Amino acid sequence: MYSLGIDIGGTSIKACLYRMGEPGGGLEAVAEPLRQATPSDGSYRSMLDLLHRIIDHHRELIPSEQRNSGMQIGLGTPGLVDSRGYLRGDAVNIPGWTGVQLKDELSEYAGVEVQVANDVNMAAYAEWRLGAGTGSDSMVFISLGTGIGSGIITRGGPVAGHTGMAGEIGHLVVEPGGRQCKCGLKGCLERYSSASGIALTAQELAETGGPELDGPLRSLIQGNRIQRSRILGNPIPEQRAVSDVAPPSVAPATVDFRDVPPGASSTAQPRTQRPAGPDNPADAQGVYEALEQGDPLARAVHASSSRRLAQAAAAVAHMLNPRLIVLGGGVLAAGDVIVQGVKEHLHEFVMPMALDDLEIRRTVLGPDAGMLGAAAMAADFAGEGYSLSSS
Ligand SMILES: [Zn+2]
Repeated sequence: MYSLGIDIGGTSIKACLYRMGEPGGGLEAVAEPLRQATPSDGSYRSMLDLLHRIIDHHRELIPSEQRNSGMQIGLGTPGLVDSRGYLRGDAVNIPGWTGVQLKDELSEYAGVEVQVANDVNMAAYAEWRLGAGTGSDSMVFISLGTGIGSGIITRGGPVAGHTGMAGEIGHLVVEPGGRQCKCGLKGCLERYSSASGIALTAQELAETGGPELDGPLRSLIQGNRIQRSRILGNPIPEQRAVSDVAPPSVAPATVDFRDVPPGASSTAQPRTQRPAGPDNPADAQGVYEALEQGDPLARAVHASSSRRLAQAAAAVAHMLNPRLIVLGGGVLAAGDVIVQGVKEHLHEFVMPMALDDLEIRRTVLGPDAGMLGAAAMAADFAGEGYSLSSS
């Protein structure tokens, strides 16, 4: 039996076909994951056509003698997905998807009931079934990337909420009257502890902080070209003005900080290729590279982000009392320091009696979690009873 996991992202769609082994056999990838660019016209029709082609392509990968036994399909998508698999409200990255009945349309095409859920909920499902949360009866997965989202697992299953909004932790207000968020509120967690929020805090503190924050990162942000050349490893001759220096003739980076798997070296992406800008997620990488060197500004930015994350984690702990909170998403490329930072501030916000049994861990599945979770949810729906360990 086979299960196809599809993960729709803002710029690309990833899909992978897994073989569901005998009980105890796990989920085994049949081929390398497929990655396709999201249709440039952004229309629902184009997206649906692409999804049909992805389904057809993967069905062909199944040996013909086994094709009749079917292929389960799971799909994670941005936006709010209610418990029936319907998209509600605008999916942030895919305009025009309001109210589409993606589940019904795909199920009719594929001839099986397709499991559809929010992409972060799918990643949460993967961590619960096959990753950091294996064996726990209640778990919350928080994804820290360009934005912030979470997926809730309680009593052995995911929680979508009445309208699919359960887990929208990125829009928990942690700073009343603070930074404007695209959702309409001010002071949302996402504006402080996502990759772009971290970069923005660095920018703000570089401009307004006291002399105790002076260091290489501040110099870099303030455009000190000598310090900048040292940090970027791309010396600029002293006698030339910055404006005289031609932009580096390197190809654009293909590795995105938001997509770096946990444990990957932060130097995997050549630093000279990282675009600058206060709202660019790549700049969070710069903050955490500077933190490794003990930079005072980076320490202040990290503390600020961690404290607000701890505030949000405390809300989760008090409301849901989960056994485990798993942190994932591109920001975790910075390493265990993110988990450590949250732990250091938790005691400020969580009742002491609730702290003892609360564990915070880092993702073990990385950027493929959404795809894997979609396949796992579809496999579970079919009741195939594969093992709880990944293969
Ligand atoms: Zn918001």
